[in-house]
Amino acid sequence: MIEFPSAFAKPRPALTDGFCRRISYLRVSVTDRCDFRCTYCMSERVRFLPRKDVLSLEELDRLCSVFVALGVTKLRVTGGEPLVRRDILQFFRAMSRHLDSGALGELTLTTNGSQLARHAAELAACGVRRVNVSLDTLDAARFEGLTRRGRLAPVLEGIGAARAAGLRVKINTVALKGFTEDELFPLVEWCGAEGHDLTFIEIMPFGEDGPEGRIDRFWPLTDLRARLARRFTLQPLAQSTGGPARYVRLAETGQKIGLITPLSHNFCEGCNRVRLTCTGELYPCLGQDGTSDLRAVLRATADDRALEQAIRAAIARKPRGHDFDHSCGTADGAMRRGMNHTGG
Ligand code: SAM
Ligand code: SF4
Repeated sequence: MIEFPSAFAKPRPALTDGFCRRISYLRVSVTDRCDFRCTYCMSERVRFLPRKDVLSLEELDRLCSVFVALGVTKLRVTGGEPLVRRDILQFFRAMSRHLDSGALGELTLTTNGSQLARHAAELAACGVRRVNVSLDTLDAARFEGLTRRGRLAPVLEGIGAARAAGLRVKINTVALKGFTEDELFPLVEWCGAEGHDLTFIEIMPFGEDGPEGRIDRFWPLTDLRARLARRFTLQPLAQSTGGPARYVRLAETGQKIGLITPLSHNFCEGCNRVRLTCTGELYPCLGQDGTSDLRAVLRATADDRALEQAIRAAIARKPRGHDFDHSCGTADGAMRRGMNHTGG
């Protein structure tokens, strides 16, 4: 039986945008803070938001519950680093009631893994079945250099704890020119041996440092794919998640490899997702700056119907697609905000 928040006595019409795309996937950033400073994500001297601007756990619960009542069936918790937020497990516990009711099909998270060892078992108890862990290298010194203040050992321990708790692990690796080339085969082999899925992501032109450095590090996945094809037979898979990922299977090992190409491949047509920042801004599109301030509505009224109206109005404005364009070697369409703001 599906439970609805108090204002909703009966099921609501599905969330659909102006291009007839059904919105069923919400990515929610629960903090902009992080214990790492990955060079492609945030500046070393990043200034975090004042706490009063960030949604409380109760506000996050109310907002996400309205989304679920409006037909969101997949909720991904991200950040910043979601597991550095104090009491964040309370939020997972609260969301698990929507899994129990059947309204939510999947509750999941994206994490840097640094805190996973101490939270994995409880995440599993909350109904989390899969976790995405970001990992760009298996070399401890390179890991420290790239994350500026992260350490590899606790991340590997966290991944082990997640597996021991019964969670499926997907490794997300940002493809970086002059860096990932050396990591490609070690990561593929390690994921194969450990039984983790692996997805490569093209670097996106985000962040307060400006996009220039990121353009220098852009390594098109067409190149990465060609390099993989020199060692393995690649079998394209039809599977689609409504997102920017495409999948291939390595015939020799049976491994499935995801390739996320937001820049060189336009994935917008089937987009089913929206993003909520930790300050309650709703981004209908990752690559456009148009947002709606749901926090203002949330704090102005206890009436969930007002939230529903604001959400529907925001989704009606979801653009057809993003403007990223690397074709001229520049970062046209680049965004000044960091990825930790919108959540990856
Ligand atoms: N802290 C968590 C983590 O690192 O997994 C969750 C938030 S992080 C912003 C989410 C994802 O965004 C990570 O996989 C990270 O590698 C990716 N990311 C960050 N900046 C990026 C960029 N400029 N281009 C592409 N991916 C980026
Ligand atoms: Fe933190 Fe994730 Fe950004 Fe790295 S990618 S700085 S771990 S939010």
